[in-house]
Amino acid sequence: MSAASSQDFYQILGVPKEASKDDIKAAYRKLALQYHPDRNKDPGAEEKFKQISEAYAVLSDDDKRKQYDAYGKEGVYQRYGSEEDIFRGTDFSDVFRGTGFGGFDDLFSQFFGGGAARRPQRGNDIQVRLQLRLEDAISDVSREVEIPRNEACPVCGGSGATPGTQARTCPQCGGAGQVQKVQSAGFARFIRVETCGRCGGRGTVVDTPCRECKGSGLVRRARKIMIKIPAGVEDGHTFRIRGEGEAGEHGLPRGDLYVVVSIPEHPTFKRDGADVYITAQVNAVEAMLGTEVRVPTLYGDVKLQIPAGTQPGQSFKVKGKGLPRVSHFGKGDEYVRANIYVPKNLNGKQKDALKGLLRDGNLQ
Ligand SMILES: [Zn+2]
Ligand SMILES: [Zn+2]
Repeated sequence: MSAASSQDFYQILGVPKEASKDDIKAAYRKLALQYHPDRNKDPGAEEKFKQISEAYAVLSDDDKRKQYDAYGKEGVYQRYGSEEDIFRGTDFSDVFRGTGFGGFDDLFSQFFGGGAARRPQRGNDIQVRLQLRLEDAISDVSREVEIPRNEACPVCGGSGATPGTQARTCPQCGGAGQVQKVQSAGFARFIRVETCGRCGGRGTVVDTPCRECKGSGLVRRARKIMIKIPAGVEDGHTFRIRGEGEAGEHGLPRGDLYVVVSIPEHPTFKRDGADVYITAQVNAVEAMLGTEVRVPTLYGDVKLQIPAGTQPGQSFKVKGKGLPRVSHFGKGDEYVRANIYVPKNLNGKQKDALKGLLRDGNLQ
């Protein structure tokens, strides 16, 4: 990796840290038109184009940007996968609409050595649900989860063969893992390639299977994994943790772990993005005269002034008491809706006072 690619993504695009999404898009578009390999034949233009595209792919996505701000480039790749995964998850066509440049899939395939390249085989992915309370989402949280998953067998080291023995080349397929079947139909001969039935496509067979794993090379273990979730996470958000899925057979790399965050509805706070909504009960007389109420927030109770003449359903903003914003900086707000109720059981004295009020007439 070149030295320049370790530069800060904001610097690469020439935007300040608090740049809006539109600013980032505009900055990327300008640079991309300048360095697009179809237009700029300078040596180094392609590398530069790749760099700015990488910066854009990360900063144009709210979650990735948040992850980048908190944990840097490494953090982004740890959570979202390879450079290629991040490029492929970004809609570049949106930026280049109307510029005459297209075929971005081809361009990116060129960067990553051909889109048709076969992915290496690996272990299966695992998905877990992580339940959080709304209160947990006000700051970064770490949770240890126990995940039953396949691990390389500790006895045979994943080979599947009894220690001291070795797997040998499959006699059926000669190690290819595939066999050709020739079929004739009339004049025609068809050659079909099938997975070798003897070795299951591995290319090797084990004569004396490991007793611990029965030759599979895998054992089931419960693993504890620490999962870090950034502040402001929303219900349903999925995080990908690379290389924490099932171990692959016979030493193939692990799959990935997907963590789906679930945040059940809160009994008091209703959430909309970074903002939260609650209702405060205010009696009609207090609403007329004005009062001070204590309202709960995710950060503890606060005092709120209800001004004289408050109307039913009127809302008051408590600034900064919402959730941290995943996309931008700062926090959302809390909105307190005044639910005005009419007292029912008045004593004689109270009734007299209200009658006096009516006699004065002209209440507005
Ligand atoms: Zn074993
Ligand atoms: Zn075979």
